[in-house]
Amino acid sequence: MSNEWEVVIGLEIHVQLATSSKIFSGASTEYGAEPNTQASLVDLGYPGVLPVLNSEAVKMAIMFGLAINADIASHSIFARKNYFYPDLPKGYQISQYELPIVHDGELFIRGDNGKNKRIGITRAHLEEDAGKSIHAENGDGTKVDFNRCGVPLVEIVSEPVIQSSEEAKAYLVRLKQILEYLNICDCNMEKGNLRCDANISVRPLGESKFGVKTEMKNMNSFRGVERGLTSEIVRQAQVLDEGGEVEQVTLLWNEAEQKAEVMRSKEEAHDYRYFPDPDLVPLSVSDNNLDSIRSSLVEMPYEREERFVNQYGLRLKDVLVLTSEKLLADYFEETVSAGAEPAEATKWIMGEMLSIIKDGGMSVSSFPVTPDQFAGLLNSVKNDTVNVATGKDILRRMVKSDLTAAEIIKKEGLAQVSDESALSEAVAHVVANNPDELGRYREGKKALFGFFMGEVMKVTGGKSDPKVVKKLLTSSLESD
Ligand code: ADP
Ligand code: MG
Repeated sequence: MSNEWEVVIGLEIHVQLATSSKIFSGASTEYGAEPNTQASLVDLGYPGVLPVLNSEAVKMAIMFGLAINADIASHSIFARKNYFYPDLPKGYQISQYELPIVHDGELFIRGDNGKNKRIGITRAHLEEDAGKSIHAENGDGTKVDFNRCGVPLVEIVSEPVIQSSEEAKAYLVRLKQILEYLNICDCNMEKGNLRCDANISVRPLGESKFGVKTEMKNMNSFRGVERGLTSEIVRQAQVLDEGGEVEQVTLLWNEAEQKAEVMRSKEEAHDYRYFPDPDLVPLSVSDNNLDSIRSSLVEMPYEREERFVNQYGLRLKDVLVLTSEKLLADYFEETVSAGAEPAEATKWIMGEMLSIIKDGGMSVSSFPVTPDQFAGLLNSVKNDTVNVATGKDILRRMVKSDLTAAEIIKKEGLAQVSDESALSEAVAHVVANNPDELGRYREGKKALFGFFMGEVMKVTGGKSDPKVVKKLLTSSLESD
């Protein structure tokens, strides 16, 4: 792609709120139930039934609004968005149009060179989800599952200020992190908890007027978003490079084939005939309500990042890993409270713990070693009861058993040997048995020191105190 085009992207993200019941009925929102067992008469739009707003969903939308520093409308309105589709039994979706509950917010992403970039959020409104059409694989008709009808969503609309597919991904990652910190969404893109529609346009660099945008749907993973957007950016730039015009279309991203397919053109665009839903009274949020929700909010990711740097003296790069997930950040802080040094805890969590989690297909919440036990292990290493290599080994055993580090050390006799007389025997043995290496070492091949260290470790079963071995070896190798 030539350099003369500037990319403009705005994202519309549908977030499924983690309430136990639907937004306008008492039906369950549990994922994975038998089709059509969780749709109530309200969700199905039977005549004579009335929707009742779920206060939990409202609270979650407000929590999100506060977390993105947005205005919360004291008065907002539900509207009917009318269209015909088999998975929408009422013939309209209850949404918010003119007066959304949340507007004018912002979040910050990490751009290149670690700098924060502000992404404005125009609005976030409450709405209900539709059902799901399931097309038979053999082409033999379509079935519809109404379980998802009425599942609460917030639709989060960004300003058109995102300038690359990488930034779009960073925005999504940040949004997901905030939602997880607030504990209001399960954030599983494959399960559809978090759905991303992207609006994409390009314009000549320096031009203030926007180019014609296309909309892309169906990107079901973070990588899918990055790939889908990149492909569309390249395509539009090519069209413009060739002197053509971008057509305003809605595209579906096909992940399997790595290409976008046209879903509908501008002529087929819907006219939704929005109007206020007469079945629902306007939603009022009092200052009291707001204050009590505000006071229940947990620390948000950026505040925590900053605090970790200041309070624990850690590098920002490490802090970004520790705070990427709230549970991991909690784990770190609990380990430190249990007596571990922050720098050591960081090193062990980022190195050992995360690799055990990854290799074992675990999550932070299923990691079986408690912060208390973890701190106990770190202290055994710090006070030289065991060396680092043995400590790593013990951690892997702790994952597989209920024993603490101290119990494993005792049971398996792993305590480090730092007794000089015991170790000098091993050192003398190793030096005497490797005359060739000794000769080369003394001729100046100092890198062989590591070889000798390794041999001593081997004959002592890996348990010797490296500091003592180093001292004894140095004096033995350098003497005579
Ligand atoms: P529409 O009227 O088509 O729904 P909106 O103005 O409501 O468009 O914006 C929908 C989304 O599209 C927002 O996220 C907005 O930031 C984004 N958007 C608007 N115009 C453009 C554009 N020219 N290029 C890229 N994104 C855009
Ligand atoms: Mg719009």
